[in-house]
Amino acid sequence: MAWPVITKDAAARAAASLPDPEAARRAFAWTDARAMLGGLPGGGLNIGHEAADRHVMEGHGAQVAIRWLGLDGTRRDMTYADLAGDAARFANVLAAQGLGRGTRVYSLLGRVPALYAAALGTLKGGMTFTPLFAAFGPEPIRARMEIGEGNVLVTTAALYRRKVAEWRAEIPSLRLVLIVDEGEPPEGCVALGPAMAAAPDRFETVPTRPEDMALIHFTSGTTGRPKGAVHVHGAILAHVATGRFALDLRPGDIYWCTADPGWVTGTSYGIISPLANRVTMIVDEADFDLERWYGILEREKVEVWYTAPTAIRMMMRAGKDAAQGHDFSHLRFLASVGEPLNPEGVVWGHEVFGKPFHDNWWQTETGGIMIANTAAMDIRPGSMGKPLPGIEAGIVTRDDGQVRECAPGEIGELALRPGWPSMMRTYLNEQARYDKCFAGGWYFSGDLAMRDKDGYFWFVGRADDLIKSSGHLIGPFEVESALIEHKAVAEAAVIGIPDETAGEVVKAYVALNPGFEPSETLERDIRGHARKLLGAAVAPREIVFRKTLPKTRSGKIMRRLLKARELGLPEGDLSTLETDER
Ligand code: ATP
Ligand code: MG
Repeated sequence: MAWPVITKDAAARAAASLPDPEAARRAFAWTDARAMLGGLPGGGLNIGHEAADRHVMEGHGAQVAIRWLGLDGTRRDMTYADLAGDAARFANVLAAQGLGRGTRVYSLLGRVPALYAAALGTLKGGMTFTPLFAAFGPEPIRARMEIGEGNVLVTTAALYRRKVAEWRAEIPSLRLVLIVDEGEPPEGCVALGPAMAAAPDRFETVPTRPEDMALIHFTSGTTGRPKGAVHVHGAILAHVATGRFALDLRPGDIYWCTADPGWVTGTSYGIISPLANRVTMIVDEADFDLERWYGILEREKVEVWYTAPTAIRMMMRAGKDAAQGHDFSHLRFLASVGEPLNPEGVVWGHEVFGKPFHDNWWQTETGGIMIANTAAMDIRPGSMGKPLPGIEAGIVTRDDGQVRECAPGEIGELALRPGWPSMMRTYLNEQARYDKCFAGGWYFSGDLAMRDKDGYFWFVGRADDLIKSSGHLIGPFEVESALIEHKAVAEAAVIGIPDETAGEVVKAYVALNPGFEPSETLERDIRGHARKLLGAAVAPREIVFRKTLPKTRSGKIMRRLLKARELGLPEGDLSTLETDER
């Protein structure tokens, strides 16, 4: 089904932070983004400084930086002055231990205030910050600590006892464990609270240069073993500019990014970009809960909201009625990232919130948003939008070592011209793997996409997930989107399985909406629906019902796992696997 374009009127365009994306694409140079930042007083560029201290210096210390919503109903405000002070205290605590430049600090925390102070304090101190997702098991934490040669871990007593204590002695680089909660810390650990209370709330930011290492982010592990992407302080140029361009952020906005800082979205757009743009961020300690989320949007008067397809599909599954009676009138801009956003989700958002979701695309490797539906752009539901100013994207093939750009409508690999500031500088300890991402002057993303004649980019699937059936190239996203248009289907994952005549045929796994039960009749009905939308060559040959689909903890469907099981192959690295109820 061709979904109607969602157009923006002249007033909406004029009001956008990027009112004329085409003109900006022609005129913008990354050096222009420098004017969106302060820079260190004595020279140098530092993410921690730009996120907090700068605003205090410019007289905005009293503005709320973080409005923290605790699990138990606590609501606590931290101003920019509070945040800058706590970041300084954190940097001082480490300095008192002789730790500074080059030190690698890891966090293993839920979304608690200490996480934000630790992140910014680490960066101010010229150290490298690596956030880990608190729900990881002991082994994935140990592995990441080992690969990244972590020196400091900031965590809670409970997480330490359950997930770290058993292997700590095996990682000699790990010198210091800081415990954020009150009370006596476990043996061999230091209580962060009292140490911070005793530390000065001023710290002269280490004069980092743009090329100094700032962050190591592990990828989601959707396609295999997670990689450690290394990012530098200069990435702040992209963080600040893309927050403005792609998320329409303005100083003073009430902004909510639902991603956990254990993943790159939750750091780039859940800490750095919003703070650099001087918004007030909502931080919710709790996980997805429909009523809670609707309540937060309404009560906190959220203006800009950045979330993910998995959450959107969960809202859709609960139905429009569940949203009835809430006042979402403060919402100005809605965005989504992490997975392809089905066109139905875009349109559903428009109906329920009065604003469509704006899909955007990027990766851990790119450090920031690359392709986006921005506020002034008409939206073609199902499209990721267009490259942001400063980003040159292409659809490229590299058959037989030859690199060639594809024609409009032709599927190829989504590639980017290197040179934007937040590009990873290497994969930690995997230089060869990093080098392989480049050819013919392009960075190859590993995703397949196509560009239409008007320059909109359309996601097709991960290169690994592409299905080749009787000469057709089939992207799982297209098939999944068609499946979820069926009223019974909440989520779908599609893989190719070997077939003697066709090469591969399409097999689908679906999770059903409440009120529907698996049955042969329903399977036939869904297949019929898919055939009608997609044609017999592309529609799934077989549909299997599942309670849930296997997903990473960052909410991405792990098609490779479905395929490995289907074919009896090794399941590979499952360190980021979350749900998998069969
Ligand atoms: P790994 O590289 O370890 O397999 P991952 O690629 O899932 O994991 P991330 O860097 O967190 O790790 O995710 C980036 C990927 O997510 C993109 O390459 C793309 O496949 C997918 N993605 C992100 N945003 C979108 C989007 N808007 N549309 C389609 N796909 C998206
Ligand atoms: Mg990836």
